[in-house]
Amino acid sequence: MVYCPRLDKCDVDEGIIMNIGNASLETECSLNEVFVNEGSPTAQTDNGVGQVAEAAGNTYYLERQAALESNARSYPRRLPIAIARAEGIYVEDTDGRRYIDCLGGAGALVLGHRHPAVVEALQGAVADGVPWQTLDLTTPVKDTFVRGLFESLPQKFAASARIQFCGPSGADAIEAAVKLVKTATGRRSILAFHGAYHGMTHGALALTGEIGPKLAVAGLMPDVHFLPFPYGFRCPFGLGGEAGWCASLGYIERLLDNPGSGITPPAGMLLEAVQGEGGVIPAPDEWLKAIRRITRERDIPLIVDEVQTGIGRTGRMYAFEHAGILPDVLVLSKAVGGGLPLSAVIYHQDLDLWEPGAHAGTFRGNQLAMATGTAAMRFIQEEGLDRHSGAMGTRLMNHLHRIEKGSRALGEVRGRGLMIGVEVVDATGSPNRLGCYPEDPQQARRIQTECLSRGLILELGGRKGCVVRFLPPLIVTQSQIDEIAAIFTDAVDAVENGS
Ligand code: PMP
Repeated sequence: MVYCPRLDKCDVDEGIIMNIGNASLETECSLNEVFVNEGSPTAQTDNGVGQVAEAAGNTYYLERQAALESNARSYPRRLPIAIARAEGIYVEDTDGRRYIDCLGGAGALVLGHRHPAVVEALQGAVADGVPWQTLDLTTPVKDTFVRGLFESLPQKFAASARIQFCGPSGADAIEAAVKLVKTATGRRSILAFHGAYHGMTHGALALTGEIGPKLAVAGLMPDVHFLPFPYGFRCPFGLGGEAGWCASLGYIERLLDNPGSGITPPAGMLLEAVQGEGGVIPAPDEWLKAIRRITRERDIPLIVDEVQTGIGRTGRMYAFEHAGILPDVLVLSKAVGGGLPLSAVIYHQDLDLWEPGAHAGTFRGNQLAMATGTAAMRFIQEEGLDRHSGAMGTRLMNHLHRIEKGSRALGEVRGRGLMIGVEVVDATGSPNRLGCYPEDPQQARRIQTECLSRGLILELGGRKGCVVRFLPPLIVTQSQIDEIAAIFTDAVDAVENGS
């Protein structure tokens, strides 16, 4: 490994090292040369686990990342910072700048960073000699976790439920859920929805609406059929409002009863009660109720993906509770581990027809994540953070509605609890027949950048990336909500009026 003396002098302007946001990597140093910059002053201040005693700045880490990590990396292209430390709702970058974190590990950090309840559980588990992972062997930690998780579920659902732990990601659990219902029904088609996001593995990607990441990948899981989600703002039927979601229901019901639809009897229907990555689109409760009726009448297992909405995010422990329905299969990840990697599928026992070993995976038994997940769930329930999430979400929505009134760039504010999105539009374009202007991803990106420069981390989602997303942790306070809204106001103003 060779020290590349030029690396310290690498300068984006000189085009020597890289171009963030562009696939090209122009460097005079080969990757191997860059690999370990042993001679640099920064390497000498590193304590060996990346905890840099003396600050090296964002540029250094971003250049390293661009040189070494995959071209598929995504967040750093829009949020070009290197995070040094984090606490609560805040993160601090390696330049010493502090940000309010409304990305929160894409919703996984439900109690923010390093919450005392989570830290205590983690330290306690380590001190108690808890094994770090146990495949699917049981432990007292696991038993406590399962008991707590089942207690957090509607009693009727929990009473006849089984749980399957999966590999640690949401996509892993989606894969398991699909295998489960295919096995139980002996059928092969799966129904999913326009705008859905279920992950990036071959099966989960096949079930995801966004076409972009699918284009390059041949041979995704077959027999997936997409149905119209009730997206009122850009209604697939051009109707909007109640007429729009009723049309979606009518279409789905007729399609399922049509022997000429081309779709064999489905093994399951998969949906998010609030589409997250798809642009923060809550399904109306009445629509969900009708979907539950339609699936039940036709013996189609209803799989609700609560990877992002679960554990208090939307103002209830589970988003399906707003509609008063019960799923047949519930998919959980992100918040369920209290910020550590964990995922599970919880389903009606009648579906438990797969054979021993039908679904396996080394990292199904993450005991530390079960300990932190138990602590997080307990804290959320004891402190009523699900209700708090609802109240704080309403407060932020009220701010955003006010900002929307004075802005031509903000087309719609929507969400549920602390899962909120603002769709950014091009008001110079031509509105559709519902009066909605075209999506404006560039302007959404500029708003995100202006927020970042003012100390607020937000993510983009939605069709063409035109929805600015707010996912603060459930511990966010009123004054922090007001601060988030104030920064967002300034950022929108800067983009629209150049102030
Ligand atoms: N389902 C939903 C609803 C999600 O939001 C996500 C991740 N954003 C996933 C599945 C996939 O989770 P993971 O990234 O952990 O694979």
